[in-house]
Amino acid sequence: MRIGLFDGGRLGVVHDDVVHDVSALVDAPPSPEGPLAQAIRDGLGDIPLHVLERHPRVPLQDVRWEAPLPRPGKIIGAPANYFEHVDEMPDSSTVVEWGVFLKASTSVIGPGGTIRLPYRDRRTDHEGELAVVIGKTGRDIALDDALDHVYGYTCVLDITVRSTEDRSTRKSFDTFTPLGPWVVTADEVGDPGDLELRLTVNDEERQHSSTSKLIYGIPELIAYASSVMTLEPGDVIATGTPSGVGPIADGDVVVVEIDRVGSLRVSVSDVAAIPHADRPGPRTALRRE
Ligand code: MN
Repeated sequence: MRIGLFDGGRLGVVHDDVVHDVSALVDAPPSPEGPLAQAIRDGLGDIPLHVLERHPRVPLQDVRWEAPLPRPGKIIGAPANYFEHVDEMPDSSTVVEWGVFLKASTSVIGPGGTIRLPYRDRRTDHEGELAVVIGKTGRDIALDDALDHVYGYTCVLDITVRSTEDRSTRKSFDTFTPLGPWVVTADEVGDPGDLELRLTVNDEERQHSSTSKLIYGIPELIAYASSVMTLEPGDVIATGTPSGVGPIADGDVVVVEIDRVGSLRVSVSDVAAIPHADRPGPRTALRRE
């Protein structure tokens, strides 16, 4: 099942070239987390076709998709989780040494959104990644049980400033986590360790790899992350990026596409970019005597 949010927070399921508006299945007031998060928590399973057909239909081509999870409880990231990406970075450590990191949940935007570059004089990079959406609460999840905790998969861009700050700062700017276009449930994706991923900037290929090359595969990421923090329905794990990471600039169009999952397109703007030295803090910071 392909399920997502469209046209102002409607909950939609794609069937062939039609989107069924199943918003009525979720009994919850509007909230920043959106109706899909609620549906996942409620244990919404596959919706049979005869049930789908009782709900309003919209032609797929007329739908404007939004982030399926606009405010996840947690966005967990995996640093340096492909050797080919480690080899292009200054440090040879991997996810095994780094562990995982967190991104601000307010950094999410949806398909068609705009990444806003924060600094004129600092490089900001694209990182195309497979995102795992957690379906079931768990702590200390065993490797063999890990995939039972997955609701589904979507595409994510883990946008990152290359600078001196901590990862959680460099990756948490508003607009730095494009997510979507929808979530494909785990049953429909099959083996998440065998998905081809491609990323283009202005139609030029920058990243092309497969999740078969992940150092920590999806089960290891879930088992490890849940040894640190309780995973909850609607949490998102960005699984790491392959090689080909590079800078994005004003006017760029970035597309990440993953087999059996979908394609996510966003644009880039520098209208709000400032010099790094002008950021709040340094000018008025206490200086050592
Ligand atoms: Mn990343």
